[in-house]
Amino acid sequence: MSEYFLEVKNLKKHFPIYGGVFLRQIASVFALDGVSFGIKKGETIGLVGESGCGKTTLGRTILRLYDPTEGEIYFQNVNITQLPQKKMQSMRREMQMIFQDPFESLNSRHTVRSILEEPFIIHKIGTHKEREKKIDELLERVELPSSAKDRYPHEFSGGQRQRIGIARAIALEPKLIVCDEPVSALDVSIQSQILNLLLDLQQSMGLTYIFIAHDLSVVKHISDHVIVMYLGHVVEFIEAKIINQNPLHPYTQALVSAIPIPDPTIKKKKIILQGDVPSPIHPPSGCRFHTRCPYVQEICKNEIPALTNHSSDGEHLVACHFAGEIGNSL
Ligand code: SF4
Repeated sequence: MSEYFLEVKNLKKHFPIYGGVFLRQIASVFALDGVSFGIKKGETIGLVGESGCGKTTLGRTILRLYDPTEGEIYFQNVNITQLPQKKMQSMRREMQMIFQDPFESLNSRHTVRSILEEPFIIHKIGTHKEREKKIDELLERVELPSSAKDRYPHEFSGGQRQRIGIARAIALEPKLIVCDEPVSALDVSIQSQILNLLLDLQQSMGLTYIFIAHDLSVVKHISDHVIVMYLGHVVEFIEAKIINQNPLHPYTQALVSAIPIPDPTIKKKKIILQGDVPSPIHPPSGCRFHTRCPYVQEICKNEIPALTNHSSDGEHLVACHFAGEIGNSL
């Protein structure tokens, strides 16, 4: 029996690219390439990295919105990797997603009432009267007035729309929610309100979150552990509370150095990475970060560094041939 509520082992997702006259597969996008980690119940794991690093693909593959190319996904000790879609549908009651842009994910022609009633109808739950009561409760939970039910998504602000998206995600009382950049499109003042709402719901409902974002300062605030991804690989797994002080992978160090400090008297060295993220169609050999790493050595170009432990409690894993030797350049 695993200690983890959710565990992924060597998860891969490669998207085929077809071309030529006969539309044969000519290449693959290596979006996820051997990701392993576990989450305990009630925890939040943050996923960070530049766009194209595979974090959204990871979230969607865990929920089986994409079928994995290889590897295994265990949810509450059940291997759901090959579960038929019909069985997955009932499993999805327990695994939900919150999207970055609620305007895109909410049907603009439906009222809030029918948006929130839909999950109950799909899963054949309750009478119309019982569902109406549930909708009122959901709106109260996300701090929207009951009168919101008769309005349409375009009548709300971005933050209020995200509250509707959250209400829909929690409607069936899930246990795991993948939050895919849920505050990225919102103003800073609204971001903190939505983050606080997510934290309150986590406490009251015992939720487990996978929180995807490109902004490390947001992820750090809400997460217990942070997974840093680069080109489909996990490069560092670290406790959120020590990420500022002890990032060991050069890529994590660069991300941490970019977090703004509100105090202008504190000077911080910003690490500027050279070049762009390489294409996931032709990822670099060896360490995928070697084309941008200031510490690159010959071995880095040929051998993929394994994710190895760098703490006594096994809570700090780093994939770098020289982790611990290059120190903390912040
Ligand atoms: Fe840099 Fe080499 Fe470490 Fe990769 S393995 S992060 S290239 S030092």
